[in-house]
Amino acid sequence: MEQQYDLLGVGAGIFNLSLAALLSDNKSVTSHFLDKNTDLEWYPGLMLDNAKMQTCCIKDLVSLADPTNQYSFLNYLSSKNRLFQFLNRSSFIISRKEFFDYAQWVSSRLSNISRGISVEKIYYKNGLFEVTTDKQSYYAKNLSISIGRNRFLPESAKVLEGDKVFHGLDYLFKKSKISNAKRIVIVGGGQTASEILLDIMDSFPRVEEITWISRRNNFLPLDDSPFVNDYYIPSYVDYFSSLDNDLKRVKHKEQRLTSDGISLDTLTELYEKIYENSFIRKNSNLNVILKPFRKFSEIQKAGDGYKVIYQNMETHKSVLTEADAVIFATGFENKFPSMLSEISDLLHLDDNEQPLKVGSNFEVSWEYGHLNTIYVQNMSRFSHGPWESNISLAAWRSAKIVNHLTQGNSYPMLNVNDSPFVSWRDSDRNNYRGLTNDQPSYVETMSA
Ligand SMILES: Cc1cc2nc3c(=O)[nH]c(=O)nc-3n(C[C@H](O)[C@H](O)[C@H](O)COP(=O)(O)OP(=O)(O)OC[C@H]3O[C@@H](n4cnc5c(N)ncnc54)[C@H](O)[C@@H]3O)c2cc1C
Repeated sequence: MEQQYDLLGVGAGIFNLSLAALLSDNKSVTSHFLDKNTDLEWYPGLMLDNAKMQTCCIKDLVSLADPTNQYSFLNYLSSKNRLFQFLNRSSFIISRKEFFDYAQWVSSRLSNISRGISVEKIYYKNGLFEVTTDKQSYYAKNLSISIGRNRFLPESAKVLEGDKVFHGLDYLFKKSKISNAKRIVIVGGGQTASEILLDIMDSFPRVEEITWISRRNNFLPLDDSPFVNDYYIPSYVDYFSSLDNDLKRVKHKEQRLTSDGISLDTLTELYEKIYENSFIRKNSNLNVILKPFRKFSEIQKAGDGYKVIYQNMETHKSVLTEADAVIFATGFENKFPSMLSEISDLLHLDDNEQPLKVGSNFEVSWEYGHLNTIYVQNMSRFSHGPWESNISLAAWRSAKIVNHLTQGNSYPMLNVNDSPFVSWRDSDRNNYRGLTNDQPSYVETMSA
């Protein structure tokens, strides 16, 4: 009889790596994680030399659940013999390369991960999941699926995708193919777009025109101010999860820049570079055209190049620009995971902006959920809040999953109220009955 695991992880990227690390020492649970890549990868197409993390390094794969865990970032630093020098930097922000090196260090120490195995389909029979792969089948009572989000490309770009039209995640793979381009368009207003623009300005000697298009009102910073960061603590997640869907939609919009804004350092560097290019550099042929509040409409092939059509969101007029290369830094979307198609009839689908209904312990709501659990990570941004696709609370989420899986309290610190400074709820005892409102006031916010 094949081995049956208590939990089989599908994907062993950043989020399931956190769960694998917490489960690796747990004697009461048998776990194993499968990943299709032969080595751990973390967006290699954007591993730019000077790219920085957008989260504090103490928010690593384990520490917020278990500060004494051997897989903490501090232990990594210590094992690399650079703890003192690290502290002398006086900064908790590290490079993306260092975070990736840390993640590789964790991964290389875990025996509950097999890489180079691609999961194909998931079946459910007699209280057990059968997970088929390109190698063999695996059996488990519970699953944790964390396969990343799907890159988003507009339809007209999908048709033309190739060496000159591509998603930002492929930037470093395609960079040499566009290094002679004279006119480049970048679509998207987040961190990826700004890093690519900086890199092109630094390393493309022949480029004459770069146009940056974003739907946002301006090129806006990541908001990680102190009270806003209280969105990234467990009690706020509880609060957010309890809201009704209309209000969640409002909050999502309002909180977007806490997750998807551009790091202030990057914006400052970019502004400085554009200043240098405009006023200080002699004989610069480069024209950087910044176009916020413009909505991408379509890309068309035109001779050897492309026509990019976008809409000015103020005038509603369509505008056309021509380019030799177009980079879509257009982020991600959550699609229904095709590996679940064989059991899709049993799953409770979400009718909002995410495919699956996900509960407070990151368990999918489904027909046999009382017997066997399917946990998902990075698939409940709509129901749980924008933090869900970030690393900030990854360790906490993993610990919630372990507690739920073991029906125990391996991580008792999770039950301690984290006492947010902001009171998100009012106590019923303070209710004032003198005035009544017919409709919740966020309805006004939505229509404003
Ligand atoms: C460039 C970039 C920088 C970021 N920087 C930050 C940051 O500074 N701070 C922050 O909080 N967040 C950051 N994020 C967001 C977040 O950290 C990442 O999205 C994170 O990698 C998500 O982890 P994941 O496990 O869901 O997905 P991934 O890391 O993408 O891992 C998914 C894994 O699933 C595997 N897989 C997929 N399909 C299968 C299959 N069929 N069978 C087996 N395995 C499969 C893949 O091989 C992959 O290893 C960043 C995102 C990007 C794109």
